[in-house]
Amino acid sequence: MTDTSSYSPIHIIGGGLAGSEAAWQIAEAGIPVILHEMRGVRGTDAHKTDSLAELVCSNSFRSDDATSNAVGVLHAEMRLAGSLIMSAADKNQVPAGGALAVDRDGFSDAVTKAIESHPRITVVREEVSGLPPRKWDLAIIATGPLTAPSLASAIQAETGADALAFFDAIAPIIHTDSINLDVCWFQSRYDKVGPGGTGKDYINCPMTEEQYNAFVDALITGDKTGFKEWEGTPYFDGCLPIEVMAERGRETLRHGPMKPMGLTNAHNPTVKPYAVVQLRQDNALGTLYNMVGFQTKLKYGAQAEVIRMIPGLEEAEFARLGGLHRNTYINSPVLLDPSLTLKSRPGLRFAGQITGCEGYVESASIGLLAGRFAAAERKGESLPLPPATTAFGSLLNHITGGHIVSDDEPGKRSFQPMNINFGLFPLLEPGAITKPEGVKRFRGKDKTVMKKQLVAARALDDCAAWLGGGDQLA
Ligand SMILES: Cc1cc2nc3c(=O)[nH]c(=O)nc-3n(C[C@H](O)[C@H](O)[C@H](O)COP(=O)(O)OP(=O)(O)OC[C@H]3O[C@@H](n4cnc5c(N)ncnc54)[C@H](O)[C@@H]3O)c2cc1C
Repeated sequence: MTDTSSYSPIHIIGGGLAGSEAAWQIAEAGIPVILHEMRGVRGTDAHKTDSLAELVCSNSFRSDDATSNAVGVLHAEMRLAGSLIMSAADKNQVPAGGALAVDRDGFSDAVTKAIESHPRITVVREEVSGLPPRKWDLAIIATGPLTAPSLASAIQAETGADALAFFDAIAPIIHTDSINLDVCWFQSRYDKVGPGGTGKDYINCPMTEEQYNAFVDALITGDKTGFKEWEGTPYFDGCLPIEVMAERGRETLRHGPMKPMGLTNAHNPTVKPYAVVQLRQDNALGTLYNMVGFQTKLKYGAQAEVIRMIPGLEEAEFARLGGLHRNTYINSPVLLDPSLTLKSRPGLRFAGQITGCEGYVESASIGLLAGRFAAAERKGESLPLPPATTAFGSLLNHITGGHIVSDDEPGKRSFQPMNINFGLFPLLEPGAITKPEGVKRFRGKDKTVMKKQLVAARALDDCAAWLGGGDQLA
């Protein structure tokens, strides 16, 4: 079949999860695509094949439960939007309980075949070593966590040295409603109001000397993950993992991120805490709080156990756990507009993990959105943003605006990659969660389940309306 489109092509750099999905969406909208993928000419440290949309590690797309799991909702929205990645995953599913896991080779082969045989897509195997030339008037950079150094330098030159990170040093993020405010209290250190603050901007968790010592011991002995050989050991003093600080001396944390100075326990003002853990609001909605300074290489299980030793966080639910990984991502909330376009270069979009989302599904979904925005722009149409209540909208909002940029750490960037989670969705209307008729005991746990179900149902309804009923892929 030959392409009869009269539109000029949109260029995509990177044929991973995001680039492949973006290419598919654009081509299905009737517009030609030139997809530039360097594998075949040059490899990365993690990819092992030349196939498009290679899964570099796990073969799981995580939970497929669209009724009460945020990534399951994202799966469902992508299916509604005719996602190639979801279609290939569904066709290559392997048994994995409630998760959607895939035969990795079958999956990548399916994506590669669909892309290579699409009449409107041309795949060029080459490394693009600078920003797209101006004559590529519409382009998407989807080069992922292992963006080739040449292109990374060009992005850095365009956006500024501080705007591109090569590691993510992630502190755990906790759902606000799982923090016990009978133990913790709101206060900024020395009640400082600062720009945009109230003097009560942090949630503080107090510790006695005994609790502090037990916590330090648990950090030091907890199970840790190592770095991959090619990652190096990217420690720099402003951003040491919490357990490395603990190893440097028993008092180090008490003089660093856990210092108790300038804080008075609102529940017990006469007793000075020995140490304090501070959590800072992480999103504009106020549904998530970030454990400031608690980036860590502790394994997930050990991490959750150690953090739940902190008074007030015994029942903590995590939107994400901490980590330190090789990554490449831009400071999207500052650099991108809501349609993922680089503010300084109209026509140039970013998609996938390089925008600061995390994970196969999230990266593909941002590719899907970038593709649809670019296709609409090529046609001279304007595509409304996905509603904030959808998984698409919530993730897009985190990347392009929902995250709060820290005021109290001038010069430091606080935007960190994030998986989709219910903390990114707007709250339900007050009174939405009510005891169902005939139910005798309606406990906190039941309310949480109902909340997730209502948020999930609202997301899918709003997504279907946004898509105009959906155009399911056969
Ligand atoms: C070691 C490692 C393990 C991971 N494990 C998991 C996991 O288990 N589960 C999970 O959900 N996520 C995992 N991730 C994150 C995962 O990489 C992303 O979720 C996903 O692959 C990102 O999709 P993407 O399309 O943005 O990038 P990618 O899938 O990496 O695609 C980017 C593509 O761009 C190409 N490229 C780069 N630079 C250029 C250039 N200059 N010119 C042309 N082409 C270029 C690359 O070859 C690649 O094909 C892992 C990441 C790493 C690094």
